[in-house]
Amino acid sequence: MHRRDERFPQVEHQADLCVIGGGMAGLCAALAAARRGARVVLMHDRPVLGGNASSECRVHICGADRSGAIPYLRETGILEELRLDNLLRNPNREYPIWDLVLYDKVHSQPNLTLLLNCSCLDAQLSGQAIESVTGWQLTTQTYHTVEAKIFADCSGDAILAPLIGHPFRMGREARGEHGESIAPEEADERTMGMTCLFQAREHDSPQPFAPPAWAHRYHSPKELPYGARDLRWWRQGYWWIELGGEAHAIRDTEAIRAELLRITLGVWDHIKNGGDYGADNWAREWIQFLPAKRESRRYLGAHVLTQNDIEGEGRFPDLVAYGGWAMDDHPPAGFEGVKLGAPAAVFHPAPSPYGIPYRSLFSENTPNLMFAGRCHSATHAALSSTRVMGTCCSMGQAVGTAAAMATARNALPADLLGDMTNLQQALLADDCYLPWVRQEMPGLTSEGVLSASRGDPEPVRDGIGRPVGEDRHAWTCSAGDWIAYRFPGRRRVERVTIIGDSALDKNITLTLHHHSHAGAGLPGVLPRRLRIEGLRGDRWELLDQVRDNHQRLLRRPVGRDLDGLRLTIEALWGSGPGCLYAFYVS
Ligand SMILES: Cc1cc2nc3c(=O)[nH]c(=O)nc-3n(C[C@H](O)[C@H](O)[C@H](O)COP(=O)(O)OP(=O)(O)OC[C@H]3O[C@@H](n4cnc5c(N)ncnc54)[C@H](O)[C@@H]3O)c2cc1C
Repeated sequence: MHRRDERFPQVEHQADLCVIGGGMAGLCAALAAARRGARVVLMHDRPVLGGNASSECRVHICGADRSGAIPYLRETGILEELRLDNLLRNPNREYPIWDLVLYDKVHSQPNLTLLLNCSCLDAQLSGQAIESVTGWQLTTQTYHTVEAKIFADCSGDAILAPLIGHPFRMGREARGEHGESIAPEEADERTMGMTCLFQAREHDSPQPFAPPAWAHRYHSPKELPYGARDLRWWRQGYWWIELGGEAHAIRDTEAIRAELLRITLGVWDHIKNGGDYGADNWAREWIQFLPAKRESRRYLGAHVLTQNDIEGEGRFPDLVAYGGWAMDDHPPAGFEGVKLGAPAAVFHPAPSPYGIPYRSLFSENTPNLMFAGRCHSATHAALSSTRVMGTCCSMGQAVGTAAAMATARNALPADLLGDMTNLQQALLADDCYLPWVRQEMPGLTSEGVLSASRGDPEPVRDGIGRPVGEDRHAWTCSAGDWIAYRFPGRRRVERVTIIGDSALDKNITLTLHHHSHAGAGLPGVLPRRLRIEGLRGDRWELLDQVRDNHQRLLRRPVGRDLDGLRLTIEALWGSGPGCLYAFYVS
């Protein structure tokens, strides 16, 4: 156990849930739990949130829609909300502004205490369960100890595993262990490597570059993977400058970072000074000093997700999250292997979507431990798909929602296994997508008679919030269209929920690779101005007006006894038409 130095102060916190690691998985877990009423502490060791997606690493978030290649499979819920906030507030696609979008969301969330620059380095057990964790906050030279009912390790490196002696796995399973055809014959400790990216910008005049003496030298494009072709990725750097898979993915990080910088500066030297690449006016404006990690420790949880689970579509009864990225396995030799002609990545097919079970997100050994993100319970082969951050967000929201439900009942994560319907329905109500699971509509919505200014409005209460297969599950609308419920008598209406069209067939993620959302602002199909009216007798009365909606999920309180409720789309962000995927009352 870590010995605390008594010369430094110690601050104590009490929480229902303590989340460790504020990458995309941890951020979604913390927000989801706090929104559902749990007292949450998020302990994060960096000054900015988002992990690999933050301005410190600048990896773009991918997921089941494969960057728009498979329409309508984008992760909704908290991630969609963040992306739409980003479209509104960050039209120039600046990563530090994205940091601010993430910070604002967490900072503004009631019930959530954010401990930045605070690295978890100790944990205390009480019997089998975790009683508290302690972190060292660099900026204040203070220890923070958090006692909580449940702990969610979203640190990527599974920091709690060594601290409490929890079983974990690092490296690749043998083929025979789980019958995985893409696994190596023998198990090993090799992983996918880490990367330092860069960004370059074009200027009006020539930009000379002199590399430091310690940078590597590359004299010919033949010395570089892919020759000169991919050197065009100057705006965002090269993911294939990857190392560390043959070293220790945690202990050797600093040495690997030093080598990655030697390579990346050498590659840039080659582009600038080693041939005619048309890069005269280009200069680097950012270099990544914190290596982005793909893989290190993975928990051994109640279920270990495998290649076969993914290939079988993961139709688990306890499905609470989903993925859809290919099994994108990077050979451990990374850049060194690619230089010798090996592929930088091997894409093994995976279905999209596939389900991820709740059991891969909690421990059987430590009853109050959950995990999400790249340290969740999966084999190396399965992680090669689940590690993308859209999928990590889906897992994170499931963990946060489950933790809040469990702590509200004084229950443990495993106790929820008998109540998967409630957890799934809670996730669907918060606009998460769970393939093959339909949202149950509130009784008030089902008994109402639905009509609309045009078209068939019934899909707005069919419990599926996006197109699936040939079915759009949507009511098409333009500015001026209305949709209304009439109840069989006067009814108490507490709230109305609307799910609009945020262009799930487009790529709206923050990326510098292409210009899919650059300057485009919010999707033109998204409802912007809405009017909500209540029916009493034969009179429609104005209840609410929404002027600048920029979200897909919109919930508005009503709190009235009514005979009906009408929603009018007064304006979309563009000329439309758009659609509503859901409109229901409860
Ligand atoms: C170069 C590269 C390219 C990639 N390309 C893509 C891509 O295009 N799209 C995509 O979606 N994914 C991509 N990935 C994968 C993806 O970035 C990771 O799998 C993902 O970041 C995992 O998310 P996470 O939240 O689990 O972990 P992380 O993003 O690693 O976040 C975990 C956070 O926990 C913090 N932490 C760690 N230890 C502690 C501690 N002891 N105390 C407190 N906090 C702690 C860390 O600082 C970190 O910020 C790529 C990865 C790499 C390296």
